[in-house]
Amino acid sequence: MIPVTTLSTNAVEDQRTSLPWGAQKWRRELLDAVTNVGELLRLVDVDPKAFEAGFGGPRQPADFPLRVPRPYIDRMRRRDPRDPLLRQVLPTSHETDTVPGYAFDPLDEAHAVLDSGILRKYRGRALVIAAGACAVHCRYCFRRHFPYAQHRQDSGFPSLDALRKDETIREVILSGGDPLMLTDGHLARLLGALARIDHVARIRVHTRLPVVIPQRVTPALVDTLASVPQRLVLVLHFNHPNEIDETCVTALAQLDAFTLLNQSVLLSGINDDVAALAELSERLFEAGVMPYYLHMPDAVAGTHHFDVPEARAAALHRELMARLPGYLVPRLVREVPGGAAKELVIADGANVGA
Ligand SMILES: *Cc1c(COP(=O)(O)O)cnc(C)c1O
Ligand code: SF4
Repeated sequence: MIPVTTLSTNAVEDQRTSLPWGAQKWRRELLDAVTNVGELLRLVDVDPKAFEAGFGGPRQPADFPLRVPRPYIDRMRRRDPRDPLLRQVLPTSHETDTVPGYAFDPLDEAHAVLDSGILRKYRGRALVIAAGACAVHCRYCFRRHFPYAQHRQDSGFPSLDALRKDETIREVILSGGDPLMLTDGHLARLLGALARIDHVARIRVHTRLPVVIPQRVTPALVDTLASVPQRLVLVLHFNHPNEIDETCVTALAQLDAFTLLNQSVLLSGINDDVAALAELSERLFEAGVMPYYLHMPDAVAGTHHFDVPEARAAALHRELMARLPGYLVPRLVREVPGGAAKELVIADGANVGA
């Protein structure tokens, strides 16, 4: 591992890779994120009344507020209330509908807590809530009701004792929130602590930051990630091909030393379309990222309007398999509370094409 003190200065690093942005650009973008629904709609030139039919009207929620960084807004089509990026972040009146079967913690994560900030649901893997915040608020988020205040690590340091003691843990997954919300210094200390746990062979980072603020990928971040002796896997979260612009491609190119995977959520009205999913896989591959999972949305209160019926999801997935090489088809999965793994959703023939 490279001691943090030997990392070169940001100015020198910026020259080395000629990134078109400076070291602190991402922090400015975080602070400058749009949080007002009216402002977002003005920026994309969409009339608030354009939504009323079917989609639900835009609203300004108090509990899980609007939050969207400007580099992401730049990729939205103007004057299009159906834009797939806008729909991922715009709060609507459907979020307050009460729908039977939709819960605050449908995955029963409260029961998977190993220690404060550490979840262990699956064999050999432990998930660390490395940060309590995200750069973007995705309306379909399954952790939108997660009690981060009880688990937040961003002020202090997670207690890694539980990981040190349990030698069956081969892989540590940094999640959140978004672990790349941490400063490089904080991340370096966390990775440094994990590097010293002998039985941990792999470190995985689940993040949406390189998607919504590609400027988060700085030479200092790349050096920090490269400093761990274990194999490092980054799982990105792109849902739609329009999310991958030139800035993203430039950022992903800096990360080519790591294993890059992508997970998407299948979302009604956003990417429940075989052409969009196929293009997403192709563009990801061009950018050096392998498709990993396509998740069925979880039954989280306030997100029912994103649901895709399982038979239709399976049919879409089968069409995707017919169009793409096998390695570009993500696994279609759902999460089952208490299951030994995420469960594959497979067309059973009888209900395909619904
Ligand atoms: C999804 C998840 C994992 C990782 O599962 P993989 O199938 O290995 O990607 C680990 N821990 C928790 C709590 C999860 O939700
Ligand atoms: S980035 Fe991930 S954790 Fe954060 S709001 Fe979006 S889906 Fe949820």
